[in-house]
Amino acid sequence: MAIDWRTADRWLMGEAMTNTLIADYINTLCDDIGPRWGGTEAERRAADFIVSTQNKHGLRDAHVEEFPVRTWENPSASITVLADAGRGGEAQWEADVRPCLFCPPVDVTGPLVDVGYGMEHEIGPVRARLKGAIVIMSMGFEPFTPPRLASLRLEDMNKLGVKAVISPHPEGGRRTSHGSANDWRDGEPDYVPVPWLQTTREHGTRLRRRASQGRSATVRVAARLFDATSRNTACELPGSLWPEEHIILGAHHDTTPDSPGSNDNGSGSSVTLETARLLAALEKETGMRPGRTLRFVTFGSEEQTLQGSFAYVRRHYETHERNRTAPEPKPRLMINLDELGTGNMKGVALVFPELRPLVQREMDSMSEGLRCHVMAQLDASGDMYPFAKAGIPSSMLWRWRFVGRHPDAAFGHASTDTTDKVRVRELKEYAGLLSRLLLRLSHVPPEKWPANRLSTRSIAKRIEEERGSVVRTM
Ligand SMILES: [Zn+2]
Repeated sequence: MAIDWRTADRWLMGEAMTNTLIADYINTLCDDIGPRWGGTEAERRAADFIVSTQNKHGLRDAHVEEFPVRTWENPSASITVLADAGRGGEAQWEADVRPCLFCPPVDVTGPLVDVGYGMEHEIGPVRARLKGAIVIMSMGFEPFTPPRLASLRLEDMNKLGVKAVISPHPEGGRRTSHGSANDWRDGEPDYVPVPWLQTTREHGTRLRRRASQGRSATVRVAARLFDATSRNTACELPGSLWPEEHIILGAHHDTTPDSPGSNDNGSGSSVTLETARLLAALEKETGMRPGRTLRFVTFGSEEQTLQGSFAYVRRHYETHERNRTAPEPKPRLMINLDELGTGNMKGVALVFPELRPLVQREMDSMSEGLRCHVMAQLDASGDMYPFAKAGIPSSMLWRWRFVGRHPDAAFGHASTDTTDKVRVRELKEYAGLLSRLLLRLSHVPPEKWPANRLSTRSIAKRIEEERGSVVRTM
């Protein structure tokens, strides 16, 4: 059946805005199930919920794919500022604390030293005091100065003999969040150059003053690395014209250890569910179907250095010499949804330039003012990265970078990323716009779709060239 675009657009936007299930998905994933750290029982429940929802909505072959995950747990952590026998006579006190993800266990007492942003000119005057020290270092970039990656500054601290690094959260209000101490472009989940902990902005100020008074602190982190089982989910809406070709819409369903993950990434997983539902319902009610197959995937353990999307790409698109299974044909495009509560939909940001005219043309036909951009650097901050690395045209949505970031997005990777942090009306619009875009992309005939000429070798070379550089596309 041919697509009557006017009817399809009206039907999809109307269904998206007036008959939405977005709030149900968000409430189930983020409030009923709650934190969904990859490899835990809660993550398993989230994956089961996603699969049963996809089944209920008539998607084909909804299933869970298990994979081994290198994971981490952290039963306790503390920063204790030791009592001051001198002038102030201050009693010992506990500073707010949250260690970085995969922080190694540590139990160390040492002098507090303030290194500012940890730049060369700041290290100079205190270099002799850094061996065995606990340093306070801002993770942002020093203003007016060529930026240096935070992960490299942590490496510097390790080389100087620092025992632990404490960084204040940039926002006020006693906030802390789980950070990553390594560069995800390197893909080493459990590599942390030096124990790195976050404190609140408020306690950061107090710690800096204690450092200037020559005070000491004890930093303790209990932590364990181990192997567990995490889960991806997948389902399809089969194509009516070119069923052997596919496009992926993906989002991670896991969270950091104690985050309800409403913006990050209940928003993206809910919009994935809803977009699939809208297109399945369009087919049921009007008979209008995608041309090529649409596949909806949710990833586990994204917060653990993208282990879920790496597992998905390995399993489906790489040749396995040992059992000689042929890989599936690569998808025509992968679109990643992450943190959609951060801003409204502005367009698509591609990793590679080849599809820009095609995607822009299809978005223009929607008359919604959406823009297609191409990222100047390979961005490893989301699940599009393993796909890009494997030579698959991939993308994320343009939502907040450079313009229109909602303040509620600054509560991520902590227990504060609750359901009040997302805007359901904007998520409804995302699902409506995405279902229209996917339907269009699925109907671009194969002869009008540029051949995939990406070479994994040149992509690997590009990643190598960009190693250590600051990601300017953020
Ligand atoms: Zn995320």
